[in-house]
Amino acid sequence: MRRPIIAGNWKMYKTIPEALEFVRIFKPLVVASTHCEIVIAPVFTAIKSMADRLEGSNVEVAAQDSAADPGPGAFTGEVSASMIRDAGGRWVIIGHSERRQYYGETDESVGAKIRSAVGAGLLPIVCVGERLEDRDATRAETVVEAQLTAGMRNLTVTEASRIIVAYEPVWAIGTGRTATPETAQEMHAFIRSRLGAMFGDRIAQTTRILYGGSVKPDNIVALMDQVDIDGGLVGGASLEADSFARIINYKERG
Ligand code: PEP
Repeated sequence: MRRPIIAGNWKMYKTIPEALEFVRIFKPLVVASTHCEIVIAPVFTAIKSMADRLEGSNVEVAAQDSAADPGPGAFTGEVSASMIRDAGGRWVIIGHSERRQYYGETDESVGAKIRSAVGAGLLPIVCVGERLEDRDATRAETVVEAQLTAGMRNLTVTEASRIIVAYEPVWAIGTGRTATPETAQEMHAFIRSRLGAMFGDRIAQTTRILYGGSVKPDNIVALMDQVDIDGGLVGGASLEADSFARIINYKERG
């Protein structure tokens, strides 16, 4: 059994007071939501305050990135995986398409970040996904396979067992255009088969694969109905407590 994960990616939104106000409203809305793991990734500066405020609850905190080098060291502007743990984070998003697109993230840097994150005891949510031109040229699977292989090829089976994969087609992020549940399922099944080829059947069957790309309260049920979709990575709809809680509580409407 794979326990679902619903994770919110807040990108560069919310100050510390705004994040804590969200927590105040949100916590009671999900206090009984034990069917899944709940994760929120605020900006770095809010991780500590949020983790303190959420201590003992069923909501955990993630970072949106972490350094490739385990550090400590002379890497101006970087935050290491162990520093994220020190601030109370338990998870980290790695290789988000916005980081690949705007900040020069490569499959190789993603690989190094994954290893440092696992080494520090964080749970990495590794993002993969094709651009629209890749899908139109029928090379979506080739692109996703290359991202997976390059990002994960140096991991041991034990390290791989800590990874969560998020399939986020770039054309569906922040566009309101979701992949149909069938399209997402097809890619999730493909990712699972590639994990099997790399790390064996146990890793293939136990790795949680999240879907991301315009997940909303009204499409989460159909997505979660798919056998290989184990949760969601939610951007825009995680910024508002009520809509994020409705996504998490999808079972009540399923
Ligand atoms: C994301 O940022 O990972 C994301 C999926 O965003 P949105 O839900 O807004 O498409």
